[in-house]
Amino acid sequence: MTHKRRILLLTTPNSYRTPAFLDAAQRLGIDVLQAVDMPEELSDHWGYRLGVPFHQVERAAAQIVDALAGSPVDTVLAVDDSGALLAARASHLLGLPHNAPDAAEAARNKALMRQMLAAGVLPSPAFRLFSTADDPAVVAAGAEAEIGYPCVVKPVDLNGSRGVIRANDRAELLAALRRLYALIGAARPFLVESYIPGVEVALEGMLDNGYLTVLALFDKPDPLEGPFFEETIYVTPSRLPATTQQAIADCAARAARALGLHMGPIHAELRINDSGPWIVEVAGRSIGGLCSRTLRFGSDASLEELILRQACGLPIESRERQKQAGGVMMIPIPGPGILRSVRGLEDAQHMPGVESVEITARVNNPIVPLPEGESYLGFIFARGDDPADVERSLRQAHAALHFEIEAEIPLFVR
Ligand code: ADP
Repeated sequence: MTHKRRILLLTTPNSYRTPAFLDAAQRLGIDVLQAVDMPEELSDHWGYRLGVPFHQVERAAAQIVDALAGSPVDTVLAVDDSGALLAARASHLLGLPHNAPDAAEAARNKALMRQMLAAGVLPSPAFRLFSTADDPAVVAAGAEAEIGYPCVVKPVDLNGSRGVIRANDRAELLAALRRLYALIGAARPFLVESYIPGVEVALEGMLDNGYLTVLALFDKPDPLEGPFFEETIYVTPSRLPATTQQAIADCAARAARALGLHMGPIHAELRINDSGPWIVEVAGRSIGGLCSRTLRFGSDASLEELILRQACGLPIESRERQKQAGGVMMIPIPGPGILRSVRGLEDAQHMPGVESVEITARVNNPIVPLPEGESYLGFIFARGDDPADVERSLRQAHAALHFEIEAEIPLFVR
């Protein structure tokens, strides 16, 4: 008889990802202990058994080891980037299989990632690391000399495209730097890198002993040309030619290897142009937000079930994505303000091919678009016989939705 599996799940209080992992664990009969990113003193108050400060990795790892004394787990799994380094470090102390902490860190620190990808001779853009302690005029002169235009500024350790801004000339670069400095604060690292033209895809994969299985390749049919890079539509299967898809998979596998990742989920973003695929980034985690709902494997397994099975050493029936095309639209925020109402939800939900529409922004609360914001208005999910149908359904549902956003009276002028 196999023993009942038990895992430690590293989550944050507001992560979209936690419920999907908890559901999957329940379906698989796996016991879950959650460690939540918060000071220990607050966890009782919020009703969590274990609160640990993710950014204080050594302290948090020691707390985890203490908490698990006498009640071991099969694996420590982070639901997103924020806990990835801690998961690797705690697993190391507990003697559990894991990615090397350096690899976990490289997969979420964009500067380290660029250095390691360049060392692995992967097609990636020219880049230079700066700090918000640097005078913007000096940054602009350095970037102009070494990177040129168009370029992209980006914080080293944010995600969801926050703070990522394209600049086509000096005036735009200085404006982008002003915005970035205000967003990330003093003495923080950031990159300036050359802009990679091309279409963009997202690859969802799983590493076993360094071997990559592609679980899904998503096209992003809306152009992502800046100045900000708001995600909208993801549709799978990809409509790119099979040879291009193979080149993308090979590139992602090489990138994971260059970072030292060898196990668990990866989520890679790539751009494809006349020179082939280029790595925008590879993260050691699964797809963000609610997007994993587009994926079902084998008879009816979720992405999280696959990840948990792999992490606990349980058999995986199939890694084959179900045949139907699927897609999601992350509903973009058209402008800043207070969300007052959402109309057309019923109509959107009843569009042909639409599976569900979930509005995650809260009415009467402020909403902030990119590059400063960190969330979407919600998600639209669709399924269909082919990717073009799915894309059409998503666009029709989006067109049926109306968001009333009241412009906020600014409290101060920048
Ligand atoms: P995040 O982790 O915040 O999503 P990324 O580095 O993936 O940050 O950048 C977010 C998006 O910005 C990418 O999906 C891509 O569309 C765009 N982007 C980032 N870097 C570049 C680049 N060098 N060239 C072109 N587009 C880029």
